[in-house]
Amino acid sequence: MTTQPAPPIPAGGAFWAGRWRSPVAVLEVHDPEDGRLVGVAGDCTAGDVDAAVSAVAQAVLHGPAWPVWQRREALHRAAVLLAEREADLARLISREGCKTVRGAAAEVRRAVETVRLSAEQADRLEGRTLPFGDTPRGEDRLGWYTREPVGVVAAITPFNDPLNLVAHKVAPALIGGNGVVLKPAEQTPLVALAFIELLLEAGVPADRVAVLPGRGATVGAALVGHPRVDLVSFTGGFATGNAIAATAGAKKTMMELGGNGTVVVLPDADVRRAARAVVDGAFGNAGQNCLSVQRVFVARELLDDLVERVVHLTSELVVGSKADERTDVGPLIDVASATRVESWVDEAVEGGAAVLIGAKRDGTYYWPTVLTSVPVGARVLTEEVFGPVVSIEAFDSVDDVVADVNGLEYGLQAGVFTRDIDSALDVAQRLRVGAVMINDTGDFRIDAMPFGGGKRSGVGREGVPFAVDAMTEPKIIAIHRTPRSA
Ligand code: NAP
Repeated sequence: MTTQPAPPIPAGGAFWAGRWRSPVAVLEVHDPEDGRLVGVAGDCTAGDVDAAVSAVAQAVLHGPAWPVWQRREALHRAAVLLAEREADLARLISREGCKTVRGAAAEVRRAVETVRLSAEQADRLEGRTLPFGDTPRGEDRLGWYTREPVGVVAAITPFNDPLNLVAHKVAPALIGGNGVVLKPAEQTPLVALAFIELLLEAGVPADRVAVLPGRGATVGAALVGHPRVDLVSFTGGFATGNAIAATAGAKKTMMELGGNGTVVVLPDADVRRAARAVVDGAFGNAGQNCLSVQRVFVARELLDDLVERVVHLTSELVVGSKADERTDVGPLIDVASATRVESWVDEAVEGGAAVLIGAKRDGTYYWPTVLTSVPVGARVLTEEVFGPVVSIEAFDSVDDVVADVNGLEYGLQAGVFTRDIDSALDVAQRLRVGAVMINDTGDFRIDAMPFGGGKRSGVGREGVPFAVDAMTEPKIIAIHRTPRSA
């Protein structure tokens, strides 16, 4: 596998109260591909969290005003800087995480959009006049509301999109006038540090942002439980989301959790198109994506055709070094994750599943795997695999498919392939998920759309305009004027 020189390490191991810090303890960041040391970040403590949150709260509540036009200009500059540094940031994302250099460059371009869209939300921070004339009790009153920041936002992010998911929390929070304390995933803190450094360079006030790398159980939990945090914006797994809900208590929370992406291929579908989309959606980022395609239901008469095409396209994927531009599938984040995926596939096979391709592990690598005849209740069907495994089953009745999907504990996004608009709408309207993509898999998102799901898949919606709404609140000012008759 190709080796590369280590990328530059950001200025400090953590940042709060206006300056870079070098915490005594460090988190070593290792490349999951070859175990090489990529860099170090601070391993912050609960005491650091208290200092950071207090400093950000002080800045938001008592510091100088940060006018909306300045927020917009800073975020526009940040988007430009991100675009200029695409190659360096992509290399860093790829080294500390699982993405191929191609996938990492695409993530940087997404983050540029996320930050630019956030800047453009400046003109949505508007209010309305209130209809006091509508009721006798409103007589002689005038009033309006404006959108005000909630205060201090705690942003907690996962490893799989280590830049764009950070941008999805930090940029909407800042345009809304909040302060942000970010705790990135333990495995991928370096690009988060680089992003905060870039925001400072773009003109974001240094006392309004903080980044504290560290452990979920210490930094994450202290942040969520801190009384001066006003909103917790979390992306990660369901179990962590549950723990956060318990610690956060009555705080406002936004949660983007997992999925186990379903695709339905109806009898009149374009099978070639469906097969290509299934392979892209199942194996991109080695399946480490909340929108990953995991379960495919295909009309029985199309089963053989779809299976043949999916297996053929899968066999053409290049599994290899992330640094190689030709690579399609890199490693999983660590050996434990690869071993877990392997054990879930083994469990399905012991229950009668057939392996059509893949089912091979070497260290952190797990080869793209296509299964069929998977037994009901197997974890590759019911849980979130978060690895490169897809199961394909034939169906005879759409009603059965809808009942199966709606019976799952996850409900993020789904895809339906068909040439018939009525069938597409019928399935789309009946599925209990956050979004249904027609003639696409559920692995599609633009950063401006309301993004999220129900059940175990989340609470609330992210996506730039929706995050800005959630991170701001209406504040009313009303005037009781002297009645004319007085
Ligand atoms: P994770 O284990 O849940 O971790 C996510 C973040 O939470 C990390 O920063 C983690 O810190 C932190 N954390 C852990 N325990 C905590 C606690 N008790 N209190 C506060 N924070 C805590 O998730 P992951 O393995 O990094 O990411 C994979 C998951 O993210 C998958 O389930 C995937 O579906 C989900 N995801 C969802 C979306 C979406 O938009 N719906 C997008 C991407 C990923 P440490 O790193 O130190 O453990």
